[in-house]
Amino acid sequence: MGLFFVCRSEQWPVQRQSEPMNTSTSNVDPAELAKFSDLAHRWWDPESEFRPLHQINPLRLEWIHGLVPLTGLNVVDVGCGGGILADAMARKGAKVLGIDLATKSLKVAQLHALEAGTQGVQYREVSAETLAAEQPAQFDVVTCMEMLEHVPDPASVVKACAQMVKPGGWVFFSTLNRNPKSFLFAIVGAEYILNLLPKGTHEFARLIKPSELTAWAREAGLNAHGPYGRKDGQIFDPV
Ligand code: SAH
Repeated sequence: MGLFFVCRSEQWPVQRQSEPMNTSTSNVDPAELAKFSDLAHRWWDPESEFRPLHQINPLRLEWIHGLVPLTGLNVVDVGCGGGILADAMARKGAKVLGIDLATKSLKVAQLHALEAGTQGVQYREVSAETLAAEQPAQFDVVTCMEMLEHVPDPASVVKACAQMVKPGGWVFFSTLNRNPKSFLFAIVGAEYILNLLPKGTHEFARLIKPSELTAWAREAGLNAHGPYGRKDGQIFDPV
């Protein structure tokens, strides 16, 4: 169901094809952003719609930090929302930039950092594609969690992540697998039966198969190291 995926950039700079990427504003679905903006005030309520993200946060943090110790590293978190992961990575000693296109979520993220006294985290309203053009090969680690399934052209975001990472750096993705189990548990179960998530949070056709993510990563010049999964695919084994 949950799909965790890690890729590594080539050790040496690769000559990437300079095909035009999606421009800053085109690769976004305003309805998707609106869904998150409407809930923005609840990002840090662990009992809210964002509960699943709070629950998986320690696991994904340990997955990343276990593979690439974060202290002192330059990290960008793409589609950071209220900063649940960005904040936690900064607390591990990374210098984190969280980016998103939902203004309200970024404000909540900033406020949280202020209130919690988190050092080393900044937030900015900019698309992955624009930041990649502005700051290519600047980040040791790029994270992009639970975001690809909300954009019209996820391959373009994968490519932007590949452009932002330094040669030899790491890119982490997580998303939902497009299979019957996700349909049953993540959509029917979570949205319609248990009311854990608002109806319409995930659209089945937008979920992503591991083979698709692998292909996009390879096309972007990344070496795919994942997915890592237990039987249920929720957990990773980053060996
Ligand atoms: N990565 C965070 C939040 C996941 S929710 C976490 O795992 O805790 C998905 C996020 O993607 C939302 O914050 C939403 O605003 C953001 N998003 C959706 N489309 C986007 C786009 N085109 N560019 C940047 N962020 C986007």
